[in-house]
Amino acid sequence: MIDLHLHTTSSDGSEEPKEILNKAQQLGLKYISITDHDSIGAYEKLAEINVADYFKGKLIPGCEFSVVHKGKPIEVLGYGMDLETIKSTGILSDEKFFERENGYIERMKEVCRNLNIKYTDDLSIKSDKYFAAQRMHADLRKYPENEKHFPKEVWESLNVFYRNCVNNEGSPFFLNQTKDYPTVQEIATLIKKAGGKAFLAHLYGYIVEDHEEFLNSIIYLNALDGIECYHSLHDMDKTNHLLNYCRDHKIFASGGSDYHGKLKPTVNMGESIQGVKIPYEILKPWLN
Ligand SMILES: [Zn+2]
Repeated sequence: MIDLHLHTTSSDGSEEPKEILNKAQQLGLKYISITDHDSIGAYEKLAEINVADYFKGKLIPGCEFSVVHKGKPIEVLGYGMDLETIKSTGILSDEKFFERENGYIERMKEVCRNLNIKYTDDLSIKSDKYFAAQRMHADLRKYPENEKHFPKEVWESLNVFYRNCVNNEGSPFFLNQTKDYPTVQEIATLIKKAGGKAFLAHLYGYIVEDHEEFLNSIIYLNALDGIECYHSLHDMDKTNHLLNYCRDHKIFASGGSDYHGKLKPTVNMGESIQGVKIPYEILKPWLN
């Protein structure tokens, strides 16, 4: 059993890297990868300890990069990279991240002021790598009087807030995030330069009209090594479809839960959907 998609407090997970290792050990996982959003902070923390004291399996260096494709924000998972090489490019600089996301927060505060929506004055992102939209959505929900300003689904679901507001040009909360993101090819080039492999993350998590067409448009770039097939947003039909797609296109398959700890309480480490363990066999063909 493996899990190649795990988040820690270095992005928007609720657990420290050490806790992740302990849990992976308890579950008897063979291979894991910590893949924080645009961050390798967890690996910097782990450099100070002996990983083998906590986890007997293998930890594959990883990161989940924000990229843009056809104007949509999507994500590419990089595995097996030399982290120093990645770091030296400056692409994961915390300063850049905080500057960008705090800029978004300030813009959303302005929208709130214009619409008489309440928010916390000093709201900002300081140490954890939470995205602005996550922070803002949680903050808006702190004030029950705000509920009347939002459709029920937006109020209740961060994902719907993303879809209907943050990623929707027609919404006052629209953020043109992708203008700051690299392309699939740019990130894939960087991952490969660092000796790693690049995978498209959770296809069915993207808000597009036709997932198959969208997938083709990415895979036909010939930039990626494979696709994340097992994922908590992919039921078995979707997973099997993607596994077949990988076989037909002679690309690799990967899989991970996208574990976030408390932030996504229904997602279990080591499983894609409930009861489906992520098999080691998918990793074998591309493990160096
Ligand atoms: Zn993720």
